[in-house]
Amino acid sequence: MFNKRVKIKELLATEPSGQEVIVMGWVRSFRNNQFISVNDGSTNNNIQIVAELGLLDEETIKRITTSASVKITGTLIPSQGKGQKVEVKASVVEILGDSDPEKYPLQLKNRPSLEFLREIAHLRFRTNTFGAVFRIRHSLAYAIHKFYHEKGFVYMHTPIITASDAEGAGEMFRVTTLSPDNPPKNDDGSVNYKEDFFGRSTNLTVSGQLEGELAAMAFSEIYTFGPTFRAENSNTARHLAEFWMIEPEMAFYDLEDNMNLAEEFIKYLIRFAMDNNREDLEFLAQRLAEEEKQLPQDKRSEMGLIEKLEFVLNNNFERITYTEAIDILLNSPAYKKKKFQYEVKWGVDMQSEHERYLVEKHFKKPVIVTNYPKDIKSFYMRENEDGKTVAAMDILAPGIGEIVGGSQREERLDKLLKRMEEMHIPAEEMWWFLDTRRFGTVPHSGFGLGFERMVLFVTGMTNIRDVIAFPRTPKSAEF
Ligand code: ATP
Ligand code: MN
Repeated sequence: MFNKRVKIKELLATEPSGQEVIVMGWVRSFRNNQFISVNDGSTNNNIQIVAELGLLDEETIKRITTSASVKITGTLIPSQGKGQKVEVKASVVEILGDSDPEKYPLQLKNRPSLEFLREIAHLRFRTNTFGAVFRIRHSLAYAIHKFYHEKGFVYMHTPIITASDAEGAGEMFRVTTLSPDNPPKNDDGSVNYKEDFFGRSTNLTVSGQLEGELAAMAFSEIYTFGPTFRAENSNTARHLAEFWMIEPEMAFYDLEDNMNLAEEFIKYLIRFAMDNNREDLEFLAQRLAEEEKQLPQDKRSEMGLIEKLEFVLNNNFERITYTEAIDILLNSPAYKKKKFQYEVKWGVDMQSEHERYLVEKHFKKPVIVTNYPKDIKSFYMRENEDGKTVAAMDILAPGIGEIVGGSQREERLDKLLKRMEEMHIPAEEMWWFLDTRRFGTVPHSGFGLGFERMVLFVTGMTNIRDVIAFPRTPKSAEF
């Protein structure tokens, strides 16, 4: 039976009294034919196994290599060495699985680069960095459910395959069972999707929002947490083709209620990680600090990771309108010195360089920008009195840019229909969505938080490919 084993995290916190224990894990290092460091992924800290001279035969010694898997039976004793409280004095060392040191690609002696580790993503979980990142990712996923559950929100699973192409959130991936080489054709030469699996053309979802709205019209408050897909052709450090999103949708919420919820939610997640993943955060903070030593002084962060998270927890997010944001940019030294590559004027979609200026240089904290021009936002956002802007809100975070996109939704049928017509969105296909505005419509709001961007923010990692296990990006879908 395997389940008598004790996890290393638990062992390291146990009072040693010579009790018998069983440890299983992967070898991280082996010194002097005597000291084996073993890790089982429950923590970044290894347990030291001491094999007294003579315990191990020649054959076994040869097989204790980096990343070999082992089962150790022994007794838990106070540690003789520095750096840990306990160690295991081995009585039996069994090799469960060999790892050929000539072939094992992950030698930890010289710190491997993140780029290199992406190429061996199947093994990178065995590094301290990815151990910490993925335990934190897990923790945040758990905290998301805890937060909404405790508020009485209902978790909805919205469909992954959708037929609606109206979200307009990004380029979509097509889902089809038709032959790519020889699809059935209509008389005019176009593909006949009536013969496709669903009898129509379908895509992978870019957002669960529209379906989320349907559920919010019955449960009042719902959230989704699932994968979304966007054929983003931009190869940035913040975009994935497959990413996870949390989308709460709430009846009886206006834009301000929406912002309040989003801010509370983000802070809750940070607090949760600070309370539950302290060790891993400290490891990543140190890692980041070392990484930044390579950078010129002016490129380094002003705060360490933990400091930054504390700061976000202890301060209100700045709230400004889009119009105010444009004014700030137009009056900025960066603008005057022509440092921005993209145009700044009322009506443009702010580029990442503008968002980063606002959060990193001007306010130095998260900023919520509201009331964007309606022409750069989706059809479902609620029109403001001025007829020019909509009740949208984006949250911008230091080092990340946009982390949340949300809005109060247009609940007035006539306004919504007019907007759809202007934007050439076929109302007939959206009959089910429009029905919510016909049968008991209410003011309501919602937002989407990109999960990986949140994990980036909390872990201090800088590339989104390093916070999802197996990233999907242009020209890359290995593993
Ligand atoms: P961006 O301008 O950064 O492309 P967006 O305006 O397309 O974002 P929304 O459609 O509002 O984003 O999606 C909601 C949230 O989902 C964003 O705030 C962001 O956190 C996240 N997100 C959007 N696109 C991606 C992507 N390709 N990869 C990872 N996260 C994403
Ligand atoms: Mn986008």
